[in-house]
Amino acid sequence: MRQRAARDQKRLDSGAVSSPKDLENLQREIASLAKRQGDLEDVVLEVMERRESAQERVAELTERVGSVQGKIDDATARRDSAVEEIDGEVASITKEREVVAGSVPAPLLSLYDKLREQQGGIGAAKLYARTCQGCRQELAITELNEVRSAAPDAVLRCENCRRILVRTSESGL
Ligand SMILES: [Zn+2]
Repeated sequence: MRQRAARDQKRLDSGAVSSPKDLENLQREIASLAKRQGDLEDVVLEVMERRESAQERVAELTERVGSVQGKIDDATARRDSAVEEIDGEVASITKEREVVAGSVPAPLLSLYDKLREQQGGIGAAKLYARTCQGCRQELAITELNEVRSAAPDAVLRCENCRRILVRTSESGL
């Protein structure tokens, strides 16, 4: 377009065009070419601005991705170390349990294991303030009396949940 405008301008300057009508047409064409060039420059400018803002957005998003990735890495590291800690705890508690289980008579241990399986992992519960801590049910008077008169080494069961009841000084007997 610039070339065409330059060519038109050259023709105009050369004086080769002498008819007033042709001159007028040529001038009009030069003016229209200049206007179109201006319009196109505006478009180019706008595209460049949009590209710049898109690049800024890309940089911003890249930074955010980096920061989120950092958080993920951090959380993953914390999770891994927690898992390691829990595994260690499980190992040490398992060992402790083996030692304790070794001192419990076999029939009682098998009853406990069976109850534990049936009762969501809790086979024995503390009797606290006349309440079974396994099912949170307060013992009835007759049941309490039975517990009171039972031998210290008798295996007592909660009438409600059937768990083994463990008596302590806080049992409220
Ligand atoms: Zn109970």
